[in-house]
Amino acid sequence: MIQLTQQSYIAGQWLLPLGTSFYGMDPVAQQTMAMYQSCTEMNVAEALESAQYAYHQYSQLSNDHIANFLSTIADQIEALGDQLLEVADAETGLGLARLTGERGRTCGQLRAFAAIVATGEWVQASIDTADAERQPLPKPDLRRMLRPIGPVAVFGASNFPFAFGTLGGDTASALAAGNPVIVKGHPSHPATNELFAVAIDRAIKQCKLPNGVFSMLQGVTHELGRVLVTHPAIEAVGFTGSLRGGRALMNLAAARSRPIPVFAEMGSVNPVFITPGAIARRGEQIAIQFAQSVALGCGQFCTSPGIAVVLREPQFIDQLLAAFEQMPAGQLLNQQIAEAFQTGMKQLAAKPAVELLTVYQPNQSAMTPQSQLLVTSAEAFLADDTLQQEVFGPSTLVVECSSLEQMYLVADACHGNLTATIHHQPDESSIAKRLFEALSQRVGRVISNGFPTGVEVCPSQQHGGPYPASSAPSTTSVGADAITRFARFVSFQDAPDELLPAALKNSNPLAINRRLNNELTTAAID
Ligand code: NAP
Repeated sequence: MIQLTQQSYIAGQWLLPLGTSFYGMDPVAQQTMAMYQSCTEMNVAEALESAQYAYHQYSQLSNDHIANFLSTIADQIEALGDQLLEVADAETGLGLARLTGERGRTCGQLRAFAAIVATGEWVQASIDTADAERQPLPKPDLRRMLRPIGPVAVFGASNFPFAFGTLGGDTASALAAGNPVIVKGHPSHPATNELFAVAIDRAIKQCKLPNGVFSMLQGVTHELGRVLVTHPAIEAVGFTGSLRGGRALMNLAAARSRPIPVFAEMGSVNPVFITPGAIARRGEQIAIQFAQSVALGCGQFCTSPGIAVVLREPQFIDQLLAAFEQMPAGQLLNQQIAEAFQTGMKQLAAKPAVELLTVYQPNQSAMTPQSQLLVTSAEAFLADDTLQQEVFGPSTLVVECSSLEQMYLVADACHGNLTATIHHQPDESSIAKRLFEALSQRVGRVISNGFPTGVEVCPSQQHGGPYPASSAPSTTSVGADAITRFARFVSFQDAPDELLPAALKNSNPLAINRRLNNELTTAAID
C-alpha cells in the first residue's frame, strides 16, 4: 500500500509546492478529501530545466530501450493493484468496473506503443538516392524521417482519469516519440495523479533513465497551465478537455514569440442521423440503444451523442422519450461539470425554438442528473449556431426535419465533430451516400448503424476531427499515429553515412521498411 503524500513529482524529486491550495473531492459523498498545493512558476522552471537536459539523452536512446520503458510503465501501473482503482473511484465515482476496463486500455495502449517503437518503423524513413547524371542538374541524396520534437506539456481530462490522464494516451505517445513529458495534473483527481507518478518514478529507476524525463505538477490554477505552455523550453502541448480550456491553451501557444503546436482534443456533439427507413423498421430498438449511449458514464464521454437528426415522426420521439425516462440517473464527476451542465441545460431549454421533453430538476439532482431530451426544428438549428454547442453530460437535442433535403442541409451545416453516425437501411443507399459524403467532411469517424461511444484503440482509429473537436484535425490522439504528433520530419541532404541516424543508414541496421526511391523495402543500399 503506497502512503500518499499530496506532493508533486518534479524530475525525480517529490516536493510540496507552495502555490494555491485545493482539495480532492469525493463526488458521490460530496465531501472534501486531502489538501494539495499547486505548483508555482519556480517548479515549472525546475521541471523544464531537467526536461531539457533529459531530452538530449532520452531522444537518443535505442528503440528497444524506449519500448522497454513504456512496457515497464504499464507493468508498474498494474503493480499499483486495487489501490489505484479505489483511489480513482473515490475521486471520480466512476465505479470499479469502468475503472478496471480503463486501466486495461491504458496499459494496453502503453504496450501497443512499445510494440510500435520496437519495430522502429513509425519514423517513416524515406530515402531518395543521388543521381549525378541527372540533367539539367544532378539530383542530391535526400533522406527523411521523424525526430522527437522536444519537451511536451500534457493536460489530461477529468472524465478519463486513466486513459486520458497522467499516464494516458498523450503522455504515452510523447514518451514513445522520444520526448520528456511534463504533466499538469488534473485537479479533479490529484491522488490518482500521484499514484501514476509513483508508477512512472519506479519505471524510470528500473530503466535507468534521466530524472527529467517526466514530471507531474499538481495544480488547480489556469495560471499554472499558462506558465507551462508559455515556457520557452516547451515544444508542443497535448491537451484533452473542454473547448474553453483547449482554446485558451491554443491562444497562449500561438501568442508566444515562438509559437508551438497544440494537439487539443476538445468537445464534440457527435450527431446521429436516422433515416426514415431505419425508424420505420428499427425505431424502438434504436431509441433504446440511443438512450443507453447517452446515459453511459452519465453522458461524460467526448463521443456521447448530443444531437439526433430525424424526419418529423411523433411516434419515434415518443419512443425516444420513453427510453430516456427509463435510464437511471448517473453520477457527474465534479462540481464544475455539474454547474456547466445546469447552465447549458437552462440556456438550451430557455430558447423559444427548443422544447424540453423530459422533466429537469437541477436543484434536487445537481450531481446525479437524469438523461435529458430536448427537441427543435431544422429551421431553428440552421439559424442558431449555439444549438451545436456541447452540453457535457446526459442530454440530447433532437433536430426534426420536414424533408430529406432539409436533413442534408443539417448535415452540411454540422460543425467539426469527433464522430457522426448514420442509421440507415440497405435499400436507402442514395440517402446514406449523401449523408456519408457530407459528414465525412466534418468529422473524424463516420459510424454506420452503431453508436459513437466506445473508441477502439487500433491503428485504423481516427480520434480527432475538424475544429472545435480538435485543434489539429489531420492528427489522431488514439492509435499508432498519435505518436507522430510529437515528432517532426527532418531531411538530411548528401549526409555522410556515419552521421545519419540508424533508420537512414545505407545498411539498414534496424531492418525496417523504408521508402527507397519510392518503393517500400527493407533492402540495404549498396
Ligand atoms: P477542462 O476543464 O478543460 O480541464 C482539462 C485541463 O485543462 C485541466 O488540467 C484544467 O486545469 C486545464 N485548463 C482548463 N482550462 C484552462 C485554461 N483556461 N487555462 C489553462 N489550463 C486550463 O476539461 P474537463 O472538464 O477535465 O474534461 C471534460 C471535457 O473534455 C469535455 O468537454 C469533453 O468532451 C472533453 N473530452 C474530450 C476528449 C477527446 O478525446 N476529444 C476526451 C475526453 C474529454 P485547471 O482547471 O486547473 O486550469
